[in-house]
Amino acid sequence: MKIGLFGGTFDPIHWGHLRSAEEVSETYGLDRVYFVPASIPPHKRGKTTTPAKDRLQMVRLAVARNPRFAVSTIELKRPGPSYSIDTIRAFASQLGKGDSLYFIIGLDAFIEIGTWQDFKEIFLLCNFIVTSRPGSKENDPLRGAGVAVKKLFCYDPKQANYRHQSGNRVYFIELTDIAISASEIRALVRQGQSIRYLLPSLVERFIKRRRLYRGAGRVRES
Ligand code: ATP
Repeated sequence: MKIGLFGGTFDPIHWGHLRSAEEVSETYGLDRVYFVPASIPPHKRGKTTTPAKDRLQMVRLAVARNPRFAVSTIELKRPGPSYSIDTIRAFASQLGKGDSLYFIIGLDAFIEIGTWQDFKEIFLLCNFIVTSRPGSKENDPLRGAGVAVKKLFCYDPKQANYRHQSGNRVYFIELTDIAISASEIRALVRQGQSIRYLLPSLVERFIKRRRLYRGAGRVRES
């Protein structure tokens, strides 16, 4: 089995996330992609986020109809902030012979990886599939990643990806640009504007029912 891990706040999950997971799983032949909602992302500490149970429910609604997609509550059940290394260790310990892990991450987040807890160990445990971000032309995942990360990899010109000494790889995929962001969706709801066609209708309905992201504004009834 090739298993993908797709972490995020998913506040809320939208078509950009879902299309990204679809294109990645198809391109790299992943058998399963686990969406892993984060509890308190270390880089977002201090900002208020939507209750974990609501974010989780939105992810569940969004992936329910895709047999290749699944949800992992591992980070929500763990007390304290979410560190990817803990999640990766937990998944790695469950792997069978011949199974492999692929951590799916946007390029903007990957270039920060040198600041992550135990990042050197992470590279021993999983491959990375780095995804393009809408509007960005950057296509080299290691260019902005810092010397400490770069020196762990060799470029493999035959496969056009980077190889770690463990044999794990860093791949880069150019996705269809879908310039939707969760923060834009939250702002639209706050301003009482429509969010239709930005995310699955089941998730849109859930947001209305739970009155999420309203702040001072109201969601337009449609
Ligand atoms: P926010 O706007 O609140 O920062 P976000 O959607 O960028 O939200 P996350 O929910 O944490 O943040 O994103 C999870 C992952 O999905 C990240 O790796 C991010 O790079 C990727 N991602 C987010 N939006 C898109 C998009 N429109 N297209 C492709 N990938 C995306």
